[in-house]
Amino acid sequence: MSARLELENVCHRYGGDEPALENLSLAVEPGELVALLGPSGCGKTTALKVVAGLLRPTAGDVRVGGLSVVGTPPERREAAMVFQKPLLFPHMSVAQNVGFGLRMRGTRKEEAGRRAEEALRRVQMDGFAGRSPEELSGGQQQRVALARALVTEPRLLLLDEPFSALDANLREEMRELVLRLQREGGHTTVFVTHDQEEAVILAGRIALIFDGRLQMYDRPEAFYDRPATREVARFFGATNFIEGLAKNGSAHTPLGDLKLGRPAPPGALTLTIRPEAVRLEGGENSFRARVISASYLGTQVHYELQTAGTALRAALPPHVRLAVGDEVTARLPAESLWVLK
Ligand code: ATP
Repeated sequence: MSARLELENVCHRYGGDEPALENLSLAVEPGELVALLGPSGCGKTTALKVVAGLLRPTAGDVRVGGLSVVGTPPERREAAMVFQKPLLFPHMSVAQNVGFGLRMRGTRKEEAGRRAEEALRRVQMDGFAGRSPEELSGGQQQRVALARALVTEPRLLLLDEPFSALDANLREEMRELVLRLQREGGHTTVFVTHDQEEAVILAGRIALIFDGRLQMYDRPEAFYDRPATREVARFFGATNFIEGLAKNGSAHTPLGDLKLGRPAPPGALTLTIRPEAVRLEGGENSFRARVISASYLGTQVHYELQTAGTALRAALPPHVRLAVGDEVTARLPAESLWVLK
């Protein structure tokens, strides 16, 4: 059965000055898939190892199903981990690799074989039971590693960049497989990735970590619509930042007074808006701007607009044809402007 996972003020220090994790607190609901996302070295793998029991946190608590597991050895945590490399035993067949964990737990040979076959079927590898791991492609090996993780019916499924070594097409296939397994099995899953797109596709919620600290924990769309800070917005590709001064529901900016969708405390602020939300029309919050660059991307065209010393990016459908040097009227709808902290 899947379980609720809680991390409370988890800290980890390897010995250096900077902690690898600092006061990480988050809860993963039973059956939820959460992505731990962040740049290389931010502490994602450390967090996963703390959950798996491969590292003991310097401080803080980890609870599974409401009970603390700090001090419980990895093999008794009912957590299965899949790493970037499949780490299969080369001298065992695919079926033996998958059934190995069950055999170690004392499951009878026939029963272990039957369950290994079932797990291989779930990852669409049922025809490969008798093969040796070296007779499989990288993607197939990773499917076997997934089957090996699933066969013990773990309460937690922990995936550490499992598809980053695969090529783009295969990665997409594997993501679909993880989503299907997740729907069918309802495992509480933590997925580590540095790939923002992968996190958005897979996760119900994303925990974004920089330098061992949690920056934001929310549903994927919130990282685009309501980023917590400028750094979070940047990580998710935001490029439009407008400095201003808030006053009575508006912001005084170099583009003019912009009406805000939500009240902001008076004083200096930074606004952001997604390129897709910029409109080419008059009305509230509109201004004249000059097109200074255009990049055709197939389904969209990215334009850079310059006005009053501020550059703004607009993503428009390809049927809108603007040329570099054109003067346009652009509008930033109040409901799409987001005030950053
Ligand atoms: P990546 O995406 O590159 O795998 P990550 O986000 O998973 O990175 P971690 O592997 O958790 O990051 O590392 C977090 C920090 O702890 C980094 O600064 C790293 O150098 C350091 N670190 C990791 N493992 C050890 C170790 N065994 N000994 C000392 N420092 C370590």
